[in-house]
Amino acid sequence: MPAMKITAVDTCILTVPTSHYMAIEFPQHKLVVAQIRTDQGLEGLGYGLVFGGGGAESVLSYLDTRLKPLLIGEDPLGVERLWEKMYKGDRGVRRVGIAGMALSALDIGLWDVAGKAAKLPLYKLWGAAADRIPCYGSGGWGKYTEKDLVAEAERYAGMGCRYYKMKIHDPDPAVNRRRVEAVKKALGHGVRMMVDVNQKLDVLGNIRQARLLEDFDLVWYEEPVNSDDNVSCAEVARSISIPVATGENHYTRYEFADLIERKAARYLMPDVCRANGFSETLKIAHLAAGHGVAISPHVVYEISIQVAGALANSFLVELMDWMPEDLFEDIPACRDGAIRIPERPGHGMSLHKNAISRYRSS
Ligand SMILES: [Mg+2]
Repeated sequence: MPAMKITAVDTCILTVPTSHYMAIEFPQHKLVVAQIRTDQGLEGLGYGLVFGGGGAESVLSYLDTRLKPLLIGEDPLGVERLWEKMYKGDRGVRRVGIAGMALSALDIGLWDVAGKAAKLPLYKLWGAAADRIPCYGSGGWGKYTEKDLVAEAERYAGMGCRYYKMKIHDPDPAVNRRRVEAVKKALGHGVRMMVDVNQKLDVLGNIRQARLLEDFDLVWYEEPVNSDDNVSCAEVARSISIPVATGENHYTRYEFADLIERKAARYLMPDVCRANGFSETLKIAHLAAGHGVAISPHVVYEISIQVAGALANSFLVELMDWMPEDLFEDIPACRDGAIRIPERPGHGMSLHKNAISRYRSS
């Protein structure tokens, strides 16, 4: 059979309203979509979730003008070769931030083609460690009232989730303690909790905050400091008794290697739509496996589960229940606290037939 060729990459942005609870903090998210067309009829869906939407147009512009031309006419099955071509394309533009997100969307689309060509779901192509992945309910944003917090946490618990993660964004650490305590009390013993700082504190602020939360048996304490500052993250990890998780704003194997070497986190949280796609996320995860560190992928659980399902060192995917029913076909649901990985070839997700006409904004 002659080599397959990429004939086109069709791109757009979808602006998608969020569901009830998340909308209190973020009324919408944006998806940068890149549909890879080939001369043999196989198609791959690449996309990036741009949280809150900020920067989506820049991601699309970089993808369209600098990365897409590198793929046209190429064989999509050479994913690693094409990844290198895109990664090294503009020497002066590091593959972090906007450029990393653009590369991620295309890498995800290329792997979707590869999985369809192999007629396998990606987790099986990559080694199938598990076919269902336990998930945690995630939300608990700063703008929620205590009543919103408890209602959301109970909603996830009602889906069988045995973990719930909430933000601790109040400037007063005692207020955060009170909010965590209110949720903990409502959930009872069957559900363990995590908290997320989202980079809002410095080392001393984190030590003070964590001390007030030590008696809650928290699974992890997330993204304590500015994500550029691995030195401070390591100092927090050494200084508090709750395990630290971080990595949703880290982009490459090199950035994750630095976190690992500094023992800055027990849980690493690469986001497949930021950290240069499935390809780089798998490398990050294997690197972590060599150091006894677990991987808990950040959001986009509907495709992150393919990575988690291929790893012996994965721990939970993040169920953020925000998507409308008419964004994707057959959105994987949480059953008994876990997501069963779709057995469809590739990453298993396709846009709902009305998604583009309904949500396209550019
Ligand atoms: Mg987070």
